[in-house]
Amino acid sequence: METVVSGIRSTGMLHLGNYFGAVKNFIKMQHDYNCFFFIADYHSLTTHPASADLHANVKQVLVEYLACGIDPGKSTIYIQSDLPETAELYLLLNMNAYTGELERSVTFKEKVKAQPDNVNAGLLTYPVLMAADILIHRAVKVPVGKDQQQHLEMARTFANRFNRMYKIELFPESFAFNFGTDLVKVPGLDGSGKMGKSEGEGNAIFLADSPDVIRKKVMRAVTDAGPTQPNQKKPEAIENIFSIMKLVSPDQTFRHFDDTYNNCTIRYGDMKKQLAEDIIAFTAPLREKILELSSDEKYIHRVATEGAAKARESARKTMSEARKAIGFLSF
Ligand code: AMP
Repeated sequence: METVVSGIRSTGMLHLGNYFGAVKNFIKMQHDYNCFFFIADYHSLTTHPASADLHANVKQVLVEYLACGIDPGKSTIYIQSDLPETAELYLLLNMNAYTGELERSVTFKEKVKAQPDNVNAGLLTYPVLMAADILIHRAVKVPVGKDQQQHLEMARTFANRFNRMYKIELFPESFAFNFGTDLVKVPGLDGSGKMGKSEGEGNAIFLADSPDVIRKKVMRAVTDAGPTQPNQKKPEAIENIFSIMKLVSPDQTFRHFDDTYNNCTIRYGDMKKQLAEDIIAFTAPLREKILELSSDEKYIHRVATEGAAKARESARKTMSEARKAIGFLSF
């Protein structure tokens, strides 16, 4: 059975981008693959080095994974920092990751712009830690959104380099995976291109947002003055509401508004009202489950503990071979 790994940073609640880019595939994959899904709390330190809410955020993501339908009986769900083997592999991979190639990462360049006062080494080596997350379980498939494509390429580079350098066939090549043909990119409501946790107020719809908050965010979504010519291409700022509608609304609703855009009769206010109601219908059962599970401390403890044990078993096997290949032998 092929092994699958993926994770989400614990910097806040899950949004629609996380759901459609990653979690939706997790739920489907768990039936046919050996799945490891983790909460990336080491990674969160690259942007939030001293978060007072770290533990609460980790719990929130864990609860949201479960509420979305990840079944701890089928998949291994764990917290990244419960697996020190990942940190060890990260160290080993760092020795053969070159600063030049890391500096070329698009995400690194974006982060340098976003947080010029905290361009830390963790940001630069983010793709190495991500490679360690994947390679520690020797996964071949990684369900992620389109934004992670370049990181996956780097993970393949590091895996092949390790194998070549230490003359071992330890790490397989891993590929980004989506059940549809293309990787998903969910745009933000502010027309900035990507839905994300740290992209500012009003950019993201979170699975746990209340109906009122969802209505407010959607009604404030960026639009333009409207189409002036039939069938004109939609500018990026307008793609936001159409792309999200395509994901949450019935096909005929999407087609209706697409047709009105194409014949220049669209009223964005009507479209937004419909979109807000369709998002609410989509997130309501998830939100209910999130609230219900949040108070079940015993269950949360059990899932995290059992997940950590299963993940470490897999990680220890990889690390034992990696150490041997390099020449770290016991006396
Ligand atoms: P992050 O929240 O950045 O840790 O991302 C966790 C997962 O969600 C990764 O697989 C990302 O590719 C995916 N993801 C995050 N934002 C989006 C988005 N706007 N569209 C599609 N996938 C996304």
